Amino acid sequence: VSQSASKLPSKILELMDGFRASKALFVASKLKIFDHLKDKGPIKAVDIANGVGTSVCGTERLLDACASLGLLEKTPQGYSNNDSANTYLTSDGKYSLHGYIIHSNDHLWPLFTNLEYAVKEGSRQNHRAFGKKADDLFKDYYHSQEVKQRFMAAMHSIAHLTARDVATAFDLSQFKSACDLGGCTGALAYELVQVYPNLKVTVFDLPEVIANTSFFQPSEQHTAPVTFVSGDFFKDDLPEADLYILSRVLHDWPDEKIHVLLSKISALCKPGSALLVAETVLDEQKIHPSVAVLQSLSMTEGKQRSSSEYKQLLEKYGFTDVQIKITGSLLDAVLCFKKNLSL
Ligand code: SAM
Repeated sequence: VSQSASKLPSKILELMDGFRASKALFVASKLKIFDHLKDKGPIKAVDIANGVGTSVCGTERLLDACASLGLLEKTPQGYSNNDSANTYLTSDGKYSLHGYIIHSNDHLWPLFTNLEYAVKEGSRQNHRAFGKKADDLFKDYYHSQEVKQRFMAAMHSIAHLTARDVATAFDLSQFKSACDLGGCTGALAYELVQVYPNLKVTVFDLPEVIANTSFFQPSEQHTAPVTFVSGDFFKDDLPEADLYILSRVLHDWPDEKIHVLLSKISALCKPGSALLVAETVLDEQKIHPSVAVLQSLSMTEGKQRSSSEYKQLLEKYGFTDVQIKITGSLLDAVLCFKKNLSL
């Protein structure tokens, strides 16, 4: 008996093929096909192949795959970018995801190729994917300028895309100074000074990162400057601020490291000071949103948490009035205040 189309397990069939679709996007991005098509009319496959230096038959298949996936337009005149490709897929698009796509191809893909080992052994598969053991996730990214630039571009693309939602999830106008710990390229910091012109924002990150931030500064700066300070947030003194920010930091670290970091922030916070955490918050069953659940499969020593777990964690370090805003965007926001000791 044949299955009627309506009864086909479409979800499963889609997932079976998902890796091909991801890889088509990755390779088209890596070959900068979307850059090549930017601001141009339709271009024929042969001309695109000549422009990017690839085979005509291979390029034609890749372009058709991209058109089929809705990443490109195809007409009898040739292929062109749609609005979404111009905004998100060109390497200099306003909300370019190019950096994260390249990171996905060059870093996450080899790691996920070893997912079976990761699950059997319960650990990150750096040694299998890249031939070396990493005791610290970030030391591994920053050992070469190329890998560092790639990682920072990846962080920047997601941070820039989500910065407005994080900055406006709560009204932060009561704060005079903020310190974004692990603030990387300053994408969130630049958004914060735009939304809150009176807020002085400091980005604190490892020296290797701070040395490389000028590359990511917005070209037109109409806002108050952002200050960059280098250091190790586990070992060094942290800048003073009314508002500390941890965006996509807590999910990377095991409990012992989180203990060091949150104890330190809590001790520095004066009553009324606050901590803003930006993460994708899981539902209480911890199966949604899948973007966070799938990220867990990278098997860093850290983990994704639900609302009640963030509340419990933050209260343990003397933070109260924990408010959670599910933004509907890629990152949610958790705001909490240092307990007023006189209460
Ligand atoms: N906050 C940014 C965002 O949301 O896009 C970046 C998140 S990235 C996952 C973590 C950041 O923490 C990186 O920029 C990394 O360099 C920084 N970091 C890691 N270990 C650190 C340390 N010991 N001291 C300071 N920053 C650190």
